[in-house]
Amino acid sequence: MPRTHDLHTHSTASDGSLAPAELVRRAAAAGVEVLALTDHDTLDGVPEAQVAADAAGIELVPGVEISVSWQGHTIHVLGLGVDPGTPALRQGLAGLLAFRDWRAEEIGRRLGRAGIDGAFEAARARAQGRIVSRTHFAHFLVEAGHARDLRQVFKRYLVQGRPGHVPGRWAEMETAVGWIREAGGVAVIAHPARYRLTATRLRRLIGEFRECGGEGLEVVSGSHSPAEVSHMAGVARREGLLASCGSDYHGPEHPWVELGRLASLPEDCTPVWTAWAAA
Ligand code: AMP
Ligand code: MN
Ligand code: MN
Ligand code: MN
Repeated sequence: MPRTHDLHTHSTASDGSLAPAELVRRAAAAGVEVLALTDHDTLDGVPEAQVAADAAGIELVPGVEISVSWQGHTIHVLGLGVDPGTPALRQGLAGLLAFRDWRAEEIGRRLGRAGIDGAFEAARARAQGRIVSRTHFAHFLVEAGHARDLRQVFKRYLVQGRPGHVPGRWAEMETAVGWIREAGGVAVIAHPARYRLTATRLRRLIGEFRECGGEGLEVVSGSHSPAEVSHMAGVARREGLLASCGSDYHGPEHPWVELGRLASLPEDCTPVWTAWAAA
């Protein structure tokens, strides 16, 4: 029997709502046998997750989801199986954190100009000293009654053309993939159907990604429809990319898929874990 993999999840180290150890225990209870913790731009949750995974008897893949700016889009690149102690990766992520901190204050200022006060302070308090993400702003805005739910709040306030939007200035693709490779990891383009790229631009993105040393595409994602899964399976096959699968779990109250409920990879894909099985 192949083992059940979930290679994309978040904890309170970024914008998830479960602590790393709670996430690991919930995943293990749901039947996940190989779990990657992939917080946004930070590895801070990995040590706690590792201890919990050892106790629960499941395999933890140390990971990160790096924010990349590419041709005006924010693209998320997963680093799977990275050594969290790698200086180049740690220093690179520290640079992204500095941008995140500035961006959070700027989102607060912009929301202030739109008549919403105290957003930065509220988001920072929710983040509890860890990274501040748009998700923290989103929860505050919903609680303060500015939108019905997370989906609506992003649309109204936090995306391009909206009052709380700040354009990303994240890592370059080549740089991010370089950090991942230097840390011994495999780079995977996360949730490729989420970027709304034309076929031509997706091909260009994948072309550049591969030139930089990127190897994988997240075919199965909690945020992909079955049609998007089939489409991306075809893309991975044509482009010779390894296929990954991850729920993008952020916690029980988030609208995406529950742990352990992810569809399996289509048969004709080469799973990304063959990369580390071979190593
Ligand atoms: P950031 O990296 O701070 O820009 O935040 C990005 C995060 O916001 C994503 O990883 C998601 O967790 C969350 N997000 C983005 N769009 C939505 C949405 N429409 N509904 C719920 N969460 C979203
Ligand atoms: Mn997130
Ligand atoms: Mn993402
Ligand atoms: Mn994610």
